[in-house]
Amino acid sequence: MSAAHKSEIDEQSQLYRIRHSTAHVMAEAVLQLFPQTKIAIGPAIEDGFYYDFDLPRALTPEDLAAIEDCMRSILRSEAIFTKKTISAAEARELFSEQPYKLELIDGLERGTVDEHGNPLSEPPEISIYESDGFIDLCRGPHIDNMSQINPQAIKLINVAGAYWRGDETRPMLQRIYGTVWNTPEELAAYLWRLEEARRRDHRKLGKDLELFSIHPDVGAGLILWHPKGALVRHLTEEYCKNEHLKHGYDMVYSPHIGRAGLWETSGHLTWYKENMYAPMLIDDEAYYAKPMNCPFHIQIFRSKTRSYRDLPIRMAEWGTVYRYERSGVLHGLLRVRGFTQDDAHIFCRPDQMPEEIDRALNFCLHILNHFGLNNFHAYLSTRDSDKFTGEIPEWERATDALRQALERAGLDYDLDEGGAAFYGPKIDLKMVDALGREWQLSTIQFDFNLSERFGLEYIGEDGQPHRPFMVHRALLGSMERFMGVLIEHYAGAFPVWLAPVQAVLIPIADRHLAYAQTTAEQLKQAGIRAEVDQRPERMQAKIRDAQNLKIPYMLIIGDKEAAAGQIALRSRSGEDSGVLPLADFMTRVKKDIEDLV
Ligand SMILES: [Zn+2]
Ligand SMILES: [Zn+2]
Repeated sequence: MSAAHKSEIDEQSQLYRIRHSTAHVMAEAVLQLFPQTKIAIGPAIEDGFYYDFDLPRALTPEDLAAIEDCMRSILRSEAIFTKKTISAAEARELFSEQPYKLELIDGLERGTVDEHGNPLSEPPEISIYESDGFIDLCRGPHIDNMSQINPQAIKLINVAGAYWRGDETRPMLQRIYGTVWNTPEELAAYLWRLEEARRRDHRKLGKDLELFSIHPDVGAGLILWHPKGALVRHLTEEYCKNEHLKHGYDMVYSPHIGRAGLWETSGHLTWYKENMYAPMLIDDEAYYAKPMNCPFHIQIFRSKTRSYRDLPIRMAEWGTVYRYERSGVLHGLLRVRGFTQDDAHIFCRPDQMPEEIDRALNFCLHILNHFGLNNFHAYLSTRDSDKFTGEIPEWERATDALRQALERAGLDYDLDEGGAAFYGPKIDLKMVDALGREWQLSTIQFDFNLSERFGLEYIGEDGQPHRPFMVHRALLGSMERFMGVLIEHYAGAFPVWLAPVQAVLIPIADRHLAYAQTTAEQLKQAGIRAEVDQRPERMQAKIRDAQNLKIPYMLIIGDKEAAAGQIALRSRSGEDSGVLPLADFMTRVKKDIEDLV
């Protein structure tokens, strides 16, 4: 496995038991400090735990520190956790002062919902856990003894509002999130990852670096690309489109909407309708915004008779699609309602298929490497034995081709047996970033459904019609998502070739302004994106701001530099390269661009 860390939600794992047990200790501490507290639910979650409380007042950061101290003194008791099965009546007696627990007991008795509020299919036994005098309605499992929790490996993270049962008509509770690990070192590593993730958050950086925005007047999940973000997108598209042309793809464009009949033929209105927006009427006919580009490319393929000699046909488009996402799952650039895919469809003969898959995968890695991305984890999804369309031998050939391409490319992959969509097997490629997080980017997906529904054909060497293989593939995925991933991976400090501003000239005093402007002009003529910081701020402030904007080079100009036709060079990493002639700086930039630094 190349992923650095996986979800720790396995209920039988020791870390799960430690986390859930620490949630009990936290509830005990909160009750000691605020005896009138009504306690709700407190499960272990990925990387930690939480507990929901109904408290007499809002908690402050000082309260969290006090609760944490109290937890450490409770842990010194080294109390044991004991389980007891009881009747609903006994449970009601025990929790008579705890209305949320009473409601959970009702649910347990009816057998519809467990003590964490999760739905159940049959009535469970009702059990409690007791530790150090604190009793919770709980099915466990727990650790045996509090001595198994390292007091130096716990940390309360924050407090957030949470509606009881997630229902906005019910009371708003205070949810304390905490984390606990096996050792203080593991805790420190986790807190570092958390802080790094915050520092790299593309939504914050997108605003600070003026890359993009989402405005409520425009609509949720719809991205406005500001000039600097648009420039990064333009450079990305320009590079990728040129590579597509070099690698045998044809570029096409297709409209944003299409007639209902098209989506009926494609089947989208049958199996994808919940992701599509309501139709609009044009001359009394229903049209839909496209959720995918495929039917349009298929129409281009079908526009004339294709011979075996014409294949493979690789049709690419930066196609903007619209898909419904619930507002609760929208997230910056990563989950949006309108996005542009770097989409392509490959139509080929069966004998060409293995080579086409190899080419698509290698092309994908070639493109991603150019962006400095080179740590991947692949997933191969195979046929579900019940739900599939097409012929089994075709599925097997396609799956073999995907598997062999992965192996030839030397990629580490996981098999998702039976995980394919009904219409064909696929490869998903996830990028593993600097923090070990996985981001879904590329997909290479066979389709035995659309080629059938649209009756795709080519005339073979035998003069007879044959069905071509059809493959959908997107390499970056979508421009929106890819930009979000790049921002997080680089913490906003794009490689020089992608940086919207590559160099900023910083005149020390107003008398250096004229030389700075001439120099900036020369740099622009040489194709280097340069700006002059003309503000009347002090030099140190300008350097700090340029560093915050992640501008790769800062060119400082004072009397000496202006007189000698030179610049003093600093990099965004803080490195000071001293004074050098402008021509030497240009050579260095060109080299950094070539080296993809
Ligand atoms: Zn418990
Ligand atoms: Zn497609």
